[in-house]
Amino acid sequence: MTRCPIVLFGLFLAMSLALGGIARAESADELAREAQAALTGGEVDQAIALLREAQAKDVRNDRVQALLGRAYLQRGDAREAFSHFTQATRLNPEDTLSRMMAETIGQFPLPAGDGKAAATPGRSRALSAEAKAEREALSGQAGQAGKAAGKDRGGPFRVVIDPGHGGMDAGTPGLGLREANVALDVALRLARVLAARGEDVSVSLTRTADVSLPGWARAALAGFYDADLVVSVHAARAPDPAAGGVAFYAFAGAPSDAVAAAAVRVENAAHESLAAQAGRMDTQSFHAAARRSAGARDVLAAGQAARTMAAAMASGSPLPLRGAGAGPFRLLDEADAPAVLVEAGFLSNAADAAALAVPEKRQALAEALGRAVLAVAGQSARTP
Ligand SMILES: [Zn+2]
Repeated sequence: MTRCPIVLFGLFLAMSLALGGIARAESADELAREAQAALTGGEVDQAIALLREAQAKDVRNDRVQALLGRAYLQRGDAREAFSHFTQATRLNPEDTLSRMMAETIGQFPLPAGDGKAAATPGRSRALSAEAKAEREALSGQAGQAGKAAGKDRGGPFRVVIDPGHGGMDAGTPGLGLREANVALDVALRLARVLAARGEDVSVSLTRTADVSLPGWARAALAGFYDADLVVSVHAARAPDPAAGGVAFYAFAGAPSDAVAAAAVRVENAAHESLAAQAGRMDTQSFHAAARRSAGARDVLAAGQAARTMAAAMASGSPLPLRGAGAGPFRLLDEADAPAVLVEAGFLSNAADAAALAVPEKRQALAEALGRAVLAVAGQSARTP
């Protein structure tokens, strides 16, 4: 009987400790904050315990998944890390860093496990093979295009085609497609369409393979090729699944509408992350060169080009036309030439994604984009 008060006291103490524990870290976000501090301090096991607790409280917290990815990577468990980074990307498609981490880990063979390594879906792999075939066909025409590029100013209309994303940066996912692959395939097809024009147009590409390329390098290439027009090819994602179609964006200080604002968020996030990744190299001078804001003349020309391209796409496009818009896209600001970002459909839109999965539709899209570029070229030939 004498022990009873002690037992009761013990129970009371245990309960108050438990309650205190709950009050100290009740939400998943708070646990995530503690876990992040633990990770920074090298306490990986403690971080994982906190994050597992956070995950139990909120399975849809993308920050918790991203941190679990980081923690398991720090512990050397690539398979677990990959699955959490993938989960983080699924929960928040705008989490570009997790997307890039999943993509980076996915580039290497994962240790045997449950057989769900899933580096890239089969559909994306098929798309890569098609892009390769396009690239080989294009290199057959490179001599012709190269000759045209050697002319003085007043010669061919110089187009720099920039396939968005690539390598570590997969871009936006959608219905088994990967934005980086779609962009590369459509861009290579567009380059072929334009190269077939011979001496009217010279075509350069910022990338011709599935490689990472930071935003500043893309912007610098525009100046390097002395471009009359930069066409950056992307596929968009919008919170509204009904939003779709082909959109042409020029630079402006503020987005033209909510869909443009969503596109700016996604594209600028990728632009920034890769710029940070490139920090190891001595990129300061490139940054300085690329960060010169586009001149007022380039911005005006880009706005005009976007409208001309949209008007030229009004007929013959396999995807509906969304139209011309504008927004504070970093790439368009940094490119030392009139630059237009083409969202060649929305991967968040079922009809657009289904069309983009079909090679014939991508070819028709590239041909329509080719006519749009030629409309801009024709207009610049008329203006002195
Ligand atoms: Zn993009």
